[in-house]
Amino acid sequence: MTKPLTLLGIESSCDDTAAAVVRGDTVLSSVVYGQTSLHAAFGGVVPEIAARAHAEKLDHCIEEALAAASTTLSDLDGIAVTAGPGLIGGVLSGVMCAKGLSAATGLPLIGVNHLAGHALTPRLTDQVAYPYLMLLVSGGHCQFLIVEAHDKFKRIGGTIDDAPGEAFDKTARLLGLPQPGGPSVEKAAKAGDPKRITLPRPLLNRPGCDMSFSGLKTAILRARDGIAAEKGGLTAQDQADLSASFQVAVSDVLIEKTRRALAIYADLNPATPSFAIAGGVAANGAIREGLMALCAQHDVAFIAPPLRLCTDNAAMIAYAGLEKMAAGGIDDLTLSARPRWPLDQRAAPLLGSGKKGAKA
Ligand code: AMP
Ligand code: MG
Repeated sequence: MTKPLTLLGIESSCDDTAAAVVRGDTVLSSVVYGQTSLHAAFGGVVPEIAARAHAEKLDHCIEEALAAASTTLSDLDGIAVTAGPGLIGGVLSGVMCAKGLSAATGLPLIGVNHLAGHALTPRLTDQVAYPYLMLLVSGGHCQFLIVEAHDKFKRIGGTIDDAPGEAFDKTARLLGLPQPGGPSVEKAAKAGDPKRITLPRPLLNRPGCDMSFSGLKTAILRARDGIAAEKGGLTAQDQADLSASFQVAVSDVLIEKTRRALAIYADLNPATPSFAIAGGVAANGAIREGLMALCAQHDVAFIAPPLRLCTDNAAMIAYAGLEKMAAGGIDDLTLSARPRWPLDQRAAPLLGSGKKGAKA
């Protein structure tokens, strides 16, 4: 048997500075330095602040990841780095750091697509066989991908405006709940009546797997203002009912669109049908349970990697780099940082952009 490759992964495309060491499909270490507190006062990620923080923290983060894996640079077979898509200053910080390490050590450099990192995570955690269906659902992304190989992805739908995580965050802001909005809306929804406020189910009447979430946020704004005008403010029960009504609307859309995506995927006759989710919104219990039940109905394995590997991390970058390197995909010092880098080059661009920029 050939010895599994050992790669260092580096991630800096948004607001998490991360480094990890992965050997084969074993995560030896995964270190993430979040930047939430740096951006909190601004209501979103400030690209310049993010880039500076990445540049300051990357070397510490890498040292920590190597130490936690009990490895040194000489134990590595290569250096994988997110080369896009993402906030360009952050991506550049990571790419320059990886180039420096590669030039100094002679280790191969492997540029990785951040979205490929997310999309290949089910292979790292569950050794899922190709082809599988993937729903990437986070603060900046929402797309269905059929993953056919480490470098072959078919996008069969996605959001044409906001990402669901972004809609959760905006809804929380409108309701006076803390950020990040996903967990606080989910918590408030537990005590709420999901039927109290009638909200739209955008694009459900349109065929296909494309989605839209920006109208939901506007509907929440109107419903909130209606209640506030009537009563002079929002009670905790109002917050809970609005949260529950919003969450069930997002969940209904994701579940129905997943049903359609599963039908498209089934046409490929996969030997071991599998559906995987990734991204921060995959943490949502109601959405997760709905998708799990749908997969059970269709006899499709449901794969939800642990949350620390679903949200931004560098283990997924190291692993995607490992598959690319094993297939001979090595880059050199001309590797560019790319703000946009769609996984499926053949698919028409989706309209609009998320808070973290248009990615696909
Ligand atoms: P990511 O973009 O993958 O780093 O994930 C962050 C996004 O996931 C943010 O927009 C969060 O609000 C969202 N999120 C995190 N936890 C939950 C949850 N329990 N329910 C819904 N959204 C969530
Ligand atoms: Mg993130």
